[in-house]
Order: sequence, then structure tokens, then C-alpha cells
Amino acid sequence: MKKIEAAEKFLTAHLDLFKCPICQQPFADLADRSMVCPNNHRFDLSKKGTLYFLTKKFSGEYDGAMLQARRQILQAGLFDKIIETVAKQLPNQSQTILDIGCGEGTPLNKLIQLRNSRDAGVGFDISKPGIELANNQEQPSFFCVADLAALPFNADSFDIIFDLFSPSAYKEFERVLKPTGKLIKVVPNSNYLMELRHLLYPSDSQNSSYSNQKVVDLFAQHYPNYQRIDLEYQFAIPAGQQANLLLMTPLHWGQGQREVSATELASLKSITVAVTLLIQTATN
Ligand SMILES: [Zn+2]
Repeated sequence: MKKIEAAEKFLTAHLDLFKCPICQQPFADLADRSMVCPNNHRFDLSKKGTLYFLTKKFSGEYDGAMLQARRQILQAGLFDKIIETVAKQLPNQSQTILDIGCGEGTPLNKLIQLRNSRDAGVGFDISKPGIELANNQEQPSFFCVADLAALPFNADSFDIIFDLFSPSAYKEFERVLKPTGKLIKVVPNSNYLMELRHLLYPSDSQNSSYSNQKVVDLFAQHYPNYQRIDLEYQFAIPAGQQANLLLMTPLHWGQGQREVSATELASLKSITVAVTLLIQTATN
């Protein structure tokens, strides 16, 4: 099946998840591969089977090289144990899953495949190149370009919100999550990719270490009865993937990076992945 046909099939089955980002009305119809709201605002499916929901321009796109690097190392399994741990938190029956800031889409797709493709997965990101790459996978989930602060989804639509290393908009999350739903936010903790961090920053640099305390505190403020799972493992870096690791990560780590030689980089054989899962369910 062509990507656009697969996307059309998904939208026909799950039209009720989406609302018009201009007038906030639920979409009433999918006609000629356009989503149409009761006020006749139209959003056309792209040839590649994605939807573009932004109503204003945003700057600061990820560049293609960074997205490709991320694609390669995630396909190689960097986050597989995180995804397995998330999968264990999900009920057996089919779920509607929203991936917040899905980037190039590998984690959501792996999660859905791990669960034998019985879920309806929707990933969104503000990056159009990210979404185009996300949709360029075997049997992709549904991917769209959208704004975290104004989600184009109806209230009480999703069973699961999955937020892997993306910013949060708790008010919007609470709106689109079903009352019985579950929010799973994954944040890096201080040991995350520490071998790379130590290569990049001198030990007296403020960026040589990282704490997720502020993010965890904010989550705890919103959800005092949250559950927490700490996960740490070593990932054996496949030969030649070190450069991808370097390309995909440190943008958000901040100033003061030193040049890393090819020899130093090649000496990096394994890397620590250390994260905290913050989980809010209706019952806790
Ligand atoms: Zn509208």
C-alpha cells in the first residue's frame, strides 16, 4: 500500500482523534484526502501521507544530518531497552498512543511493532523534515506536523501519552488524555551518555554534568502520586556509529564543547543510557 493510502485508511478509522487547529471543532469529514472541519477549514494529506497542522511559522528546524544520524543509531537499538520498559507499562488491549515530539519516529514505530501493531499510534513534531523522515519507514504509524502548545486532537482521545525527551505541556496532555489514560514521560538522568559528555566537556565545565531534578520536580508538582522507574544500561556502539551518536545528541547540552578527535571518538565502544520514567495513571 502506498504511504498516502495507508494514511488515508488510518484517518478514516481514527478521524475522531483530530480537531481543527483553527476553529477547534472536531473534523467532520475526510474528502479527497483532505481533513475538513464544519467551518470548511481544510488540511490536505501530503503525497507522502503526513498532515501539516501548523497555523504559523516556526523557526529552528532540526537539520537533515542530525535527523539521519538519530535515525541510524536508534534503528541500531540505542533506545530499545527504554522502549521495552515503556511497552511493559501498557495494558494488553489495543491502545491509542500519542508520541509527543516524535522526531524521526523510530521510537514510536518500535513501540507499536513490539506490541504486534495492535495499537493506533500518532506521532507529531514541529519539525517538518523530522515528520517526513518519520513517515519514511516500513509500516509507519501516523505522523503529523503540529504544535505542542495547541494540539490538533480532541479531548479524551488517547489512552497513552508517550513523551521521550520532549518538552511537556501538561494542560494539553490532560485535555487529550482519556480519564483512564496513562502519561509516560521519559527524561535523561545524570549518567545519560556520560562517556560522550566527558569527551566533550572539561570536568570544570558546568555542562560536564546534568541533573533532571527540575523536570522531575515539575512532574511531581502536577502529579504528586506519580510512579518512577529508573533504568540504566550499557549500549555497545556498533562500529562506525560513534559519529552518529555525536551528531544526534549534544545540541541541547550547551556551550563549551571541545573538539573530539576521530581517534577519541572511535575509542568509544560502549555508552551508558540512563533514564527515568515518570508515570501518571488515573488510579495513582
Ligand atoms: Zn476549522
